[in-house]
Amino acid sequence: MPGVSVTEFDAAGKIITPGFVDGHVHLIGGGGEGGFSTRMPAGSVLPFFRSGTTTVIGLLGTDGITREHSQLLGQVRGFSEQGLNAYMLTGNYRFPPKTLTGSLLEDIAFIPEIIGFGELAISDHRGSCITAHELQRLAMDTRIAGMLSGKKTPVVLHMGSAPAGLQLLREAVSDSTLPASFLIPTHISRNESLLAEGLEWVNKYNGRIDFTAKAGLSATISNLIQNDLPEDSYTVSSDGLGSFPTFDSSGELLSIKQAQVDTLLLTFKELVLKENISIHSALLPFTRNAADCFGLGDKGIGNIRIGGRADFIIFNPDFEIEEVYTDGVRRIGRIS
Ligand code: ZN
Repeated sequence: MPGVSVTEFDAAGKIITPGFVDGHVHLIGGGGEGGFSTRMPAGSVLPFFRSGTTTVIGLLGTDGITREHSQLLGQVRGFSEQGLNAYMLTGNYRFPPKTLTGSLLEDIAFIPEIIGFGELAISDHRGSCITAHELQRLAMDTRIAGMLSGKKTPVVLHMGSAPAGLQLLREAVSDSTLPASFLIPTHISRNESLLAEGLEWVNKYNGRIDFTAKAGLSATISNLIQNDLPEDSYTVSSDGLGSFPTFDSSGELLSIKQAQVDTLLLTFKELVLKENISIHSALLPFTRNAADCFGLGDKGIGNIRIGGRADFIIFNPDFEIEEVYTDGVRRIGRIS
């Protein structure tokens, strides 16, 4: 292209994919359910680049007391300055919502990086007993603020293991004023009954669901693909840098550790190499679907297109990452 400085290199035999979009990352650390010493530390950009993740969406979880949206926004901007495309959600587990400006509408309307609300805890012992009407109003406020600021702003719902499952979501859309696609339940494969409700959310309500990447998820997804799960209906996120606590049946904490940020890469590789899913299908929940969920696809995120961000991964034929680019700049790897 005339007047544009370019670098040409030979990628023959390589596999080039869009960079991964991770829609659920505790960028300033999460956790704390076992006391202050169990607060998980903040992250840095390099582990994301090494894992092929080029866009992250940060959020607050259980702890909306010692963790602030201002800290999260600072981290988002710091990451962006280092080439990792970063956004965030307002709110956290609780209702009434914790916000940056005092108003979730103003957070969304005035802060460019804020592209939704969450993660709001539902059917979980760490939740706040939100009612269906409160959830509906919160999601409609979020959506309206998104409409006024030109964003698609879903509510991400942390799903716990209580038997109520997705009941609140079904009630919140029952009068047909709130599109189901604005309520995204995550951790959806936490147990079998929750997954079954998630599939109903997709098939009956036209909703979307989000899986948390973990060992064995590739087999679950492979099975669902073979059973005709609509290809644009689901995403996979890492819950990275958050806590991974285990509780007993009475809610007592048994153990706690920090979730890793490389689980999108591991799940993608398993889908292709172990489950024999096509590269195209295996990529969707980590790239196009994740970007579209938050209205980022038109910015050239989650895809490779002329005029897009040029965020991409170069794999060797064994699906080992050789190079990662964001914004057209090589962040890891070396041109040989
Ligand atoms: Zn969660």
